[in-house]
Amino acid sequence: MDDVDVLVVGAGIMGVASAYHIVRNSPRKKVLLVDRYGAPGQGNTGRSNAMFRNTFSSADNQTLADSSIDYYLHLQAAGQDIGLEQIGYLWLMSEAKLSSNERYLAGMERNGIEIKRQGLRELAGALPGLRADGGEESGLLGLPKVEWGVFGPKCGRLDPDKLVRYYAGEFERLGGRIALGTEAESIDPGPTRRLGIDGEPFVWQDWRVEGVKLTGRMDRVVRPEAVVLACGAWGNELLLPIGVDGHVRAKKRQLFSLSARGNAELMRLLRTPGFNALGLLPFVILPKASVYFKPLEEEDAFWVGCEDEVNRQFIDLPDHDLDKYAAEPGYYDRGIKPVLSGYFPVFTKAELKAMWAGLYSYNTADYLPFAFRESNLIVVGGDSGSGIMKGDSLGRVVDALYREEKEAELYGGAPYDASRISFSRRRVEREEWVI
Ligand SMILES: Cc1cc2nc3c(=O)[nH]c(=O)nc-3n(C[C@H](O)[C@H](O)[C@H](O)COP(=O)(O)OP(=O)(O)OC[C@H]3O[C@@H](n4cnc5c(N)ncnc54)[C@H](O)[C@@H]3O)c2cc1C
Repeated sequence: MDDVDVLVVGAGIMGVASAYHIVRNSPRKKVLLVDRYGAPGQGNTGRSNAMFRNTFSSADNQTLADSSIDYYLHLQAAGQDIGLEQIGYLWLMSEAKLSSNERYLAGMERNGIEIKRQGLRELAGALPGLRADGGEESGLLGLPKVEWGVFGPKCGRLDPDKLVRYYAGEFERLGGRIALGTEAESIDPGPTRRLGIDGEPFVWQDWRVEGVKLTGRMDRVVRPEAVVLACGAWGNELLLPIGVDGHVRAKKRQLFSLSARGNAELMRLLRTPGFNALGLLPFVILPKASVYFKPLEEEDAFWVGCEDEVNRQFIDLPDHDLDKYAAEPGYYDRGIKPVLSGYFPVFTKAELKAMWAGLYSYNTADYLPFAFRESNLIVVGGDSGSGIMKGDSLGRVVDALYREEKEAELYGGAPYDASRISFSRRRVEREEWVI
């Protein structure tokens, strides 16, 4: 007997949401959540842009995000401050891009995802700072002309630290335990029925995770009935040694904060009315390299980033210290800024005041998240740049896998077949509407 029934490794959004839903549905179980960092959410969750959208091409992504957003909206409306602001997403694109995307947009509309198409005249009125042709350098930079906008009103931003603190707090309130500064160093597989012969488990034996070695502040071996790995970009580290594919490849992603203070035009852009009830600019995605920016009115700043696929290495076993992945000022100056100020010249003089980097964890097969169970081991991950917006649903899927239920009950009561995002019985379409 052990004093831990379920061990959850990783206290990012995936781990805290999973731990919370497990203890919520199995209140008698002793659930232990561990993380090598000193506080929950200090991995990539804390470095994230924390935007949310339901505008995906894949129906599974739509479902997982949409019901998580509903849950987050419910939390915020019930008085739980998770920093949620429904500012909307505004994708800017050429006529040709809109045509090629029409089938995805039609799919979203069929599935009840609200979107609104805006022609150039409407856009130019709503976004006075927009230079639709991309400016003098547009030929050199290959900037497509902005001819359309696609607006997603249900989308927005939240505060990842507040969200993680909410789940971790509720988890503890329901009796869960959190051990920080504690690393799961290795997994020890054993036979389901131990015979006492040297070298078990043999090929003819069924296996299970017998023990997990913890080091750091909690230094011991635990022998739980189930283990959940929610290790994000580090998902391969514990799995590869025991021959289970972690299905994760990490890539560095960077965010840059630009100050609007002292620049009246930027301050006006920040508070562009007409898109949402808050009178704020929405999250804007430009037609080149998905360069994007979001308003942070509380900081008088914009956060800027882009889709970073060109010549950016995959990392299978990332360093534990995320500061090893530093943001690069030259990447902003020579990569992002020409595109940004091509379409919005007002950014030409914007001052770069902070920058940081984190890691996306990709499932490169189809760019959708996964959750699967092998024996008593449950693994969740592969959420690329959209793990926070699907966190609640994925936590519920992990809980269903733990309870060996076929279906998870997503927020609002919709059933979701947990095997859809497994690997052995995967049934998802590749995501095409990516940032
Ligand atoms: C720059 C950037 C922008 C992003 N923007 C968005 C966005 O706008 N919207 C969105 O939804 N998502 C966004 N994402 C993605 C989002 O941050 C991730 O999908 C999400 O945070 C993944 O959560 P996680 O819990 O899987 O990983 P993490 O938050 O990284 O948590 C994993 C945790 O596991 C712990 N851990 C790992 N191995 C062990 C071990 N062996 N022992 C103990 N602890 C261990 C780590 O310490 C870490 O705390 C962005 C990511 C980045 C980097």
